[in-house]
Amino acid sequence: MPTRARRNLVGASRAELQALLAELDPRPFRAEQVYQWVARRMAASVGEMTNLPKALREALSEHAVVADPDVLEVRRGGDGTAKYALAFPDGAVVEAVAMPMEGHTTICLSSQTGCAVGCIFCVTGVLGAGRNLTGGEIFGQYRTILRSEGMVGAPVNVVFMGMGEPLLNLAGVSRAVELIAETVSPRRVTVSTSGIVPGIRKLAGLERRPKLAVSLNATTQEQRERLMPIAARWPLDELLAALRAFPLERGRRITFEYVMLAGINDSDDDARRLPRLLKGIPCKVNLIPLNPDQRYLGELEAPDEERISAFAGILASAHVNVTVRWSKGREVAAACGQLRGQIIARGPAQAGGGSPAP
Ligand code: SF4
Repeated sequence: MPTRARRNLVGASRAELQALLAELDPRPFRAEQVYQWVARRMAASVGEMTNLPKALREALSEHAVVADPDVLEVRRGGDGTAKYALAFPDGAVVEAVAMPMEGHTTICLSSQTGCAVGCIFCVTGVLGAGRNLTGGEIFGQYRTILRSEGMVGAPVNVVFMGMGEPLLNLAGVSRAVELIAETVSPRRVTVSTSGIVPGIRKLAGLERRPKLAVSLNATTQEQRERLMPIAARWPLDELLAALRAFPLERGRRITFEYVMLAGINDSDDDARRLPRLLKGIPCKVNLIPLNPDQRYLGELEAPDEERISAFAGILASAHVNVTVRWSKGREVAAACGQLRGQIIARGPAQAGGGSPAP
């Protein structure tokens, strides 16, 4: 066994593989073969790369590994949702979720090991900041779910709506999007942001641009700052201006997510203000009743179904394309950060020593 650290091939770009293979077999098609095994065929080891000569596989194994995060726990719901707690070698724990939808599965990935944005309705935000995940660590979540769920080659959508703010980790997310694009069209990949305006502008400039979702949750600046402290840094009017300038291909829309909180942002006045705010932006609105968690979210509650329906009705009558996302996987703690929160609450042995609650 070699004693020096071996390079993880998961997350490597074509150019990086070319450099790694330079002394073993510099022909470009060899690097491409390795890339395809990792990024398309989801190989779990160098040994699986059977179109490489045996001698090359052995030599490559001395320099490199194919390593994905460890599966710490999987919770399955009656609706088919599978929520994974995944651990990295430094002990960080993140969540990734597979949600069966009509005709395809949506895979939700984390971009950071915690989140400094601090939305008051989000367990990840309440648990505090973490580090950025590398592109390979994000892509490793995707590979782990595809392999574990027997979905390699199956039609999937990918959403960056797990732990963390993707646009505060644009380097890691861009690399992951590039790798995911080997198997999923960017039209089926959505990055969800709390409203990081410089990140939205950078995303707008990407050649293979994923779809954009914005976690809005409020209809006034004051209300938004109360729910999402980050709104003080990038105010609502600045955010909406950046979204109006975001390039959208024909037929594409921006998704606005609106977590519904009883007595806070669910009034008729809110419902009447929302269409005025979004005027001129091709969009749809997802109403998401809060997935309550008394341990971390205190007294925050979802409105009752009648209130949610009335709110949705006002939007619909103003010609807003609106859907209500009744929570999938409620019984498996599928809202952002809840499973990790439960693992942390059980203690460091199960949490793998990951970043603790503040
Ligand atoms: S909702 Fe997203 S941006 Fe807000 S605290 Fe949670 S993970 Fe961070």
